[in-house]
Amino acid sequence: MIKINPIHAFKDNYIWIIHNEKYAVIIDPGIATPVIEYIRQHHLKLIAILNTHHHHDHTGGNLELSQLFGIQIYGPKKETIPGMTDGLEEGNIVRLPELPLNLTVLDTPGHTAGHISYYGSNNLFCGDTLFSCGCGRIFEGTAQQMYSSLKKITTLPDDTQVYCTHEYTLSNTHFATEIDPTNPLLAEYMSKVKLLRANHKPTIPTTLAIEKSINPFLRCEQSAIINAANRHAETQLPDAISVFSELRKWKDHY
Ligand SMILES: [Zn+2]
Repeated sequence: MIKINPIHAFKDNYIWIIHNEKYAVIIDPGIATPVIEYIRQHHLKLIAILNTHHHHDHTGGNLELSQLFGIQIYGPKKETIPGMTDGLEEGNIVRLPELPLNLTVLDTPGHTAGHISYYGSNNLFCGDTLFSCGCGRIFEGTAQQMYSSLKKITTLPDDTQVYCTHEYTLSNTHFATEIDPTNPLLAEYMSKVKLLRANHKPTIPTTLAIEKSINPFLRCEQSAIINAANRHAETQLPDAISVFSELRKWKDHY
């Protein structure tokens, strides 16, 4: 039976640790110290690091952890990842027999040019692509790429548990409410998120079913979202990608 727990890092990062109380793998260790503390405290043996993209707050702990534990470091083939031993691309499978767990790699470019996500046993580790009630900023890719990456993610089962790397949910719900003020599911979700955060609890994982009902970036074909984007752009946007792009630009300056 595998467990997935957050290790808090920096202001709002989650380093996810997947373990079976004996062996462990970690996703996106931006810093080594809290990971080392966690695995020593829980008497775990670290076997691998999985990286989604090259940003320092996701890879900054790689070298220290690999020097200490001599582990495999998986990451996107198209990016420069510190200490990477195994470069991955769409369709590759990471086999972790010690857990046991197999993770399939999805190319999810947009936030960075080579960003990948990992999916297996109903869990998705999507780095900075999809956030609860939001999505990653477009730093290296295009709006079209990010839109396609999010579309690809939404083809996974609705009950997929989504493990994103930042706790941005509460501020995302404020923006989403401005876009989609009459969505009762969003209002309900925001109340739940406020309560969790007031108690210092993570809002992650979320599920794709929840995200499809409340996340404006996954709802660019819904009339409420189209109308809000058109109002903001002061024009009739021609398609869902233009709506998505307008929302992303709006959020960048929100
Ligand atoms: Zn990033």
